[in-house]
Amino acid sequence: MDRYVVIGNPVAHSLSPEIHARFALATGETLAYDRLLVEPGDFARAARGFFAAGGRGANVTLPFKVDAFEFAQERTARAEQAGAVNTLAARAGIVLGDNTDGAGLVRDLTVNLGLGLGGKRILLVGAGGAARGVVAPLLDLSPAMLVVANRTRERARELALRFRDAGPVEGVGLDAMGGGFDLVVNATSTSTRGEALALPRGLFAPGATAYDMAYGPAARPFLERARAAGANACDGLGMLVEQAAEAFFLWRERRPDTAGVIAALRAA
Ligand code: NDP
Repeated sequence: MDRYVVIGNPVAHSLSPEIHARFALATGETLAYDRLLVEPGDFARAARGFFAAGGRGANVTLPFKVDAFEFAQERTARAEQAGAVNTLAARAGIVLGDNTDGAGLVRDLTVNLGLGLGGKRILLVGAGGAARGVVAPLLDLSPAMLVVANRTRERARELALRFRDAGPVEGVGLDAMGGGFDLVVNATSTSTRGEALALPRGLFAPGATAYDMAYGPAARPFLERARAAGANACDGLGMLVEQAAEAFFLWRERRPDTAGVIAALRAA
């Protein structure tokens, strides 16, 4: 049976095995999908061992997306652009690296949530691994402006500089985010530590959407704060399922239906 894994640390909490089991069932594909806990510094050895033993593909989560980028022998254009890899696939003698985070976020925003972002003002808070993967796909939506704000201002500036040819983007510190945004994406790790990102007065334009890449109970404090400030609020479960669907497509050349899986996970 074709074998797949999600590699991370920690990885016990990952919903990926459940998501891919649902995709496999719905598409009639036969595969095995497990979790692989890897110690920091041991990614390349573990991944090499998995693929040498016939493994067909891997999802890669914290903190290994840059290790996976370096491990991949070939990379898709969007992985090169992001400088990070969240999906590995065995291909005739080599391992291909892809990044499906950006496509997953954009599909959740535009298809599942029905947002039209052309000409709108977008704020992306955070400049870590997840933020890197979504800047170019967000700019592809032709916003009026994409502001990247980060606690360490220099990282936001570097990120904006890297993508300046892809569209209107600027990098600032958290103290200079500005306001009037139609979409605010929280790509910081604050929610996963039970903290809620500060949302200054005037941050949201009327009818704005606040989106936390974290999902489930972790996202609640941010979403509650955003709702109190008048925004529509949504967590990152849809992004998680959509980025998994992109990975499934890369591996199996079948595009699974995602709406039912998102609904089932929410209900659970
Ligand atoms: P990283 O560790 O790479 O980046 C963390 C970011 O959070 C940095 O920009 C960091 O700023 C910022 N940060 C940390 N603490 C604070 C704080 N107290 N105040 C303000 N900013 C802070 O994490 P990732 O980018 O990989 O992940 C970020 C989030 O996205 C996580 O919640 C993760 O679960 C989620 N995610 C969700 C996905 C999905 O499919 N739904 C996919 C990928 C990620 P600084 O640079 O100053 O340290």
